[in-house]
Amino acid sequence: MARVQIGGRPHRILEVNDVRAEVDKRGYEAGSKGLYGACLLKQDTVEILISAKLNDRQKATTLLHEVIHSIMPDLEENDVLKLERELFPFVWNRGFRP
Ligand SMILES: [Zn+2]
Repeated sequence: MARVQIGGRPHRILEVNDVRAEVDKRGYEAGSKGLYGACLLKQDTVEILISAKLNDRQKATTLLHEVIHSIMPDLEENDVLKLERELFPFVWNRGFRP
């Protein structure tokens, strides 16, 4: 588990075996698709869950995706996906790792 500051808020980044189960356990709505990660916005902190079953590259792109959700919680999923898709090769090639 890592603790980082993003946008002035503390974030806990956790790898979990079953993202959906962990989201459910915390009382959040998990949606219908398969989940690789989740961004749970709480009062003072943000919890980002990443599936432990992913490889490093998948974990990194999922982490980037969830951080985008954290920074801009009102952004539509398709816009988050576009930012992830466009930004990820750039940051991965410069050493961003989960
Ligand atoms: Zn998303």
